[in-house]
Amino acid sequence: MSAKFSIGVDLGGTDIKIAVVDCQGSVLYSDCTPTEAHRGYGHTINNIIKGINSILQKNNLDISQINGVGIGCPGQVDPENGLVKFLPNIPGWINIELAEIIEKELELKAGIDNDVRCATLGEHRYGAGKGYNNIICITVGTGIGSGIIMNGRLVRGANSSAGEIGHMILKETGGNFCGCGGVGCFETLASGPSIVEMAEKYIMGGKSAKFRELAGEGPITPEIVARAAGFGDEVAKTIFKTAGYWIGIALTNVVNLLNPEVVIIGGGVAKCGDLLLDPVRKTVQEKALKTATENLQILPAQLGNDAGVIGASLLVCNNNKNACTASKF
Ligand SMILES: [Zn+2]
Repeated sequence: MSAKFSIGVDLGGTDIKIAVVDCQGSVLYSDCTPTEAHRGYGHTINNIIKGINSILQKNNLDISQINGVGIGCPGQVDPENGLVKFLPNIPGWINIELAEIIEKELELKAGIDNDVRCATLGEHRYGAGKGYNNIICITVGTGIGSGIIMNGRLVRGANSSAGEIGHMILKETGGNFCGCGGVGCFETLASGPSIVEMAEKYIMGGKSAKFRELAGEGPITPEIVARAAGFGDEVAKTIFKTAGYWIGIALTNVVNLLNPEVVIIGGGVAKCGDLLLDPVRKTVQEKALKTATENLQILPAQLGNDAGVIGASLLVCNNNKNACTASKF
């Protein structure tokens, strides 16, 4: 018999989000606990286990009512073997058998996948991609990632590294260095840090700008640049036009290659809405092949910060064909 609830975990560099999700994709309860990455992976895993136990206790839930634990991880994973291979922003996580450790400690089945792929599963099942079989979901934040669903199936690739759209090379000549070691990656042109860099370069040129005034003594953030654009600041608008243009160029390549029905854009920077989405749509419509864009929709993500935990819970859902666990349970 299938249990009523699953646990979804979204492992981040600063916080771990843990939620109880029901079979309709509703978050019943969610909690946040610190990652404390500097204390080592064992400590972080302990925080996950303590967090899950605490959430079960607070909600009077028994293990028999839980399907399992799905965990989204910010990096490279091997979902079939429940292995975290490498997390670029959380040091020390190299070839960690996360699913097995969680299963042993909690006596629940566990599944893991990349965090953006989890968000994609969530948006596909319950969010902006509901009802579609061919979707691309990209998240634009500190980095840029993507998840691909083709013919209703999540595409993981031969070594589970499919979807690394942030490292698509768009400007190798004259481009910036990327964390991956490459030059001119998509991520160096349109992520949160590149929006901030564009704003700071402008200020260094000695010009005054609304976003400098809005930031006061604090740092400039993509949200502040977006607010400045809302006040009509032309420089801020140009910065978003530029970021949107590069997202549009990357998506033109993706749309020509995979012909999705829907492209979903989420992540922190995407919260700026049409300010970012309008130049993305314009670029794709202008540059992609007409056959590929005929019925294409480019939509904002719907599940917000919950997409990760909702999608992670689907990894251990009994009736989900995209579930992936190496479980003995
Ligand atoms: Zn790169």
